[in-house]
Amino acid sequence: MSVLTRSVRIGLGAGRGVLDLVLPPHCPACETIVDAPGRLCTACFRRASLIVPPCCVRCGVGFASVGSAGLALSCPSCLDSPPPWRFGRAAFAYDEFSRLLVLPLKYGDRTENAVVLGRHMARAGRSLLEDCDRLVPVPLHRRRLFSRRYNQAALLAQAVGRLSGRAVMVDALARMRQTAPLVGQSPSERRRSVADAIRVRPQRAAALRGLRVVLVDDVLTTGATLGACAGALLDAGVASVDVLAAARTARDETGEDRQEPPE
Ligand SMILES: [Zn+2]
Ligand SMILES: [Zn+2]
Repeated sequence: MSVLTRSVRIGLGAGRGVLDLVLPPHCPACETIVDAPGRLCTACFRRASLIVPPCCVRCGVGFASVGSAGLALSCPSCLDSPPPWRFGRAAFAYDEFSRLLVLPLKYGDRTENAVVLGRHMARAGRSLLEDCDRLVPVPLHRRRLFSRRYNQAALLAQAVGRLSGRAVMVDALARMRQTAPLVGQSPSERRRSVADAIRVRPQRAAALRGLRVVLVDDVLTTGATLGACAGALLDAGVASVDVLAAARTARDETGEDRQEPPE
């Protein structure tokens, strides 16, 4: 892609609509021309590790086989300490390929990547979305939102909302303070670090009461942030919280979740 084309794309950010009329659509992972915007080319689609059942019904981690899933369809870690949400799914395994889509969305102004990620999230999360009144993104602290100019989780929620016909409440939650980067912290350190950092906005609490919420984030690792969000929503009286992420990190041999990108 030429420097000019790239800078035009960056300049337009979320407003790709006009540009799509001018430039042929590109695969967001490799820039090959594709038939329609927001689609992977055939080669990238083959490279992608889509998470398909059997996977843990709580945290979405893939199982090697139906046999290893067990009767509860939960991974050992979710059986030991169940997350505060009900069901969780992720579209992609977080690997070298899905990083090509997630990291530029998170740090590189490639807001259009939310379309392709959202499409696969809507597919993976179909059963959660059937049972959903509001999609709610994990919030960014306002200082981080100011420097990045958008919340990548909100863009994903909007993309999923458009495809599934579900309503999105982008400002249901607020992050009250900036948390230290979670990378390198143990699960319990992560939980401590985000506990109390997330609140339901008081002006949204009444509208949320009794609703079935699907929380949306880019990468699900230990679930510390999503757990804090789910806890805040349940305290505010929502009926249920499920979780839908673009990508799920794998577990290493010790059962620990591998690293996620910094927020
Ligand atoms: Zn491609
Ligand atoms: Zn699990």
